[in-house]
Amino acid sequence: MNIIQKPSSHYTKGRHNPIDTIIVHYISAINTRPEDPYNVKYLLNFLRKPIPNGNKKPIRVSAHYLIGRDGTTYACVDESNTAWHAGLSHMPDGRSYNRSVNDFSIGIELAGGKWEEFEEVQYLSLAELINDIKRRNPKITVKNVLGHCDVAPGRKIDPGKHFDWIYLYQHIRDVKSELTLTESMRALSKALVITSKAKKEISSGMVCPENDITSGEVVDEQKTQETANINTPDVTIPKKEVIEKEEPKVSQQPKKENCVVRNVVRIAKMCRFRRKK
Ligand SMILES: [Zn+2]
Repeated sequence: MNIIQKPSSHYTKGRHNPIDTIIVHYISAINTRPEDPYNVKYLLNFLRKPIPNGNKKPIRVSAHYLIGRDGTTYACVDESNTAWHAGLSHMPDGRSYNRSVNDFSIGIELAGGKWEEFEEVQYLSLAELINDIKRRNPKITVKNVLGHCDVAPGRKIDPGKHFDWIYLYQHIRDVKSELTLTESMRALSKALVITSKAKKEISSGMVCPENDITSGEVVDEQKTQETANINTPDVTIPKKEVIEKEEPKVSQQPKKENCVVRNVVRIAKMCRFRRKK
């Protein structure tokens, strides 16, 4: 596939664990460039240049890849190095390295936001890229192709409610062989013990809602970067948003459930999709 190289210096050299995970994000310049939020030049700047952060140390983030609205793919960090894309995060089973999944994951940013659908060409480029990455990193299975919200529940919402996981799965190679019916059933049985609140969310289809954003996101990231040299890119950085995020203090527990629920729903939908075929 055709990938445009746009190297970033924002990474930690090497890996401590084998790469077995892909994290999907969204990124936009909606707060600084509302008239042209997906301008690739500005999005690449986020991933390649320090982002001013008031009186504090500038924020430095990155991702391995960026996919523009027209489906063009840009590579910023070599897969052999650790990009700063997920910040404080852990796998659904709790696994992390230095309080983050960055060490064993590849981060892919899609130009987009919580307010609108992604372009079909973006899904096609993303699927092609994922298939390519999976070929080079055979430890990555489709179960470990996750959203940022799945590894930073309560703190991150991307790739957001408009991201169509089912459509993506339809274009990823080996989905059927990697996700057995037993695994799907296990995930479904897990769903039976979740709280009534979460059940209600399944029935209403309201999972991982946008109000998942909580306070202190940017502060958190900064702290994380200083201590562990890891960071996250979907900083649309915006003073406005920082203020917004300081308001609601929502408890963490139900949100974790939301993401578990969403994964279950995702898998359940896939089973349905497979049966139809
Ligand atoms: Zn993200």
